[in-house]
Amino acid sequence: MEKTKMMALPDYYSELRPFNKYFKEGHPILCYHKIALPPGKARIKGLYLDPNLFFTQMNEISQAAFISTRPNEATRSMGSPITITFDDGFVNNLTEAVPLMQQAGIRAINYLVADRIGQTSDWEAGEGGEADPLMNESQIRDWLAAGHWIGAHTCTHPRLSRLSRDRAREEITAGRKKLEDRFGISVEHFAYPYGDYDDSTVELVREAGFKTACTMHRGINLTKTPTLELKRWTARYPSRTLKNFFRRFF
Ligand SMILES: [Zn+2]
Repeated sequence: MEKTKMMALPDYYSELRPFNKYFKEGHPILCYHKIALPPGKARIKGLYLDPNLFFTQMNEISQAAFISTRPNEATRSMGSPITITFDDGFVNNLTEAVPLMQQAGIRAINYLVADRIGQTSDWEAGEGGEADPLMNESQIRDWLAAGHWIGAHTCTHPRLSRLSRDRAREEITAGRKKLEDRFGISVEHFAYPYGDYDDSTVELVREAGFKTACTMHRGINLTKTPTLELKRWTARYPSRTLKNFFRRFF
């Protein structure tokens, strides 16, 4: 039954309409990267979302009585839960997305790369992507002060399943501790870089004490969904032309 419904949905999230009913059956999580117009030279345009389209998406969610929470957090007020996630901590998440989310009454979690704070997404350069600026410490403090949350996304954004167990453990554990020490808050949520993980990665994330971890698998989160393998819908432009190309980069 769930499979049939999934097949009727678009591959990516661009508007609420086809998802509204489905989203209210569980806890949906949306995934964003860069809120900006794609530069002409960017090959992976799917990582960019026009601020105007983002604003439309945020307003639709608000108006449909969804309440934005952290992953797996239940809403106490009237409304269905939804979680808005950003991966990597781009500066445009603060400069472009925060004012728009504030207007729409939406809160979001940003998964930060602990050793790249104030630097660029240098891992993208090797993937044919565009390295863009990441928030520095004071910008992350502004993000938090605006009512948003942070989660961990390792130290250097590796493909965790390809690392030795010790190196993967270090990326996961230190990635959390560095954020906690720097910002003086508890960091309980994790996202796998590229959505890449295996059983051993999940065990390390559990061992590090994370409450939830997000993958890049599509779907709704139900009570039976493992909390360290939460599903997300990637939000992007409605176009389908970049689909196959884009898919490689999770
Ligand atoms: Zn990432």
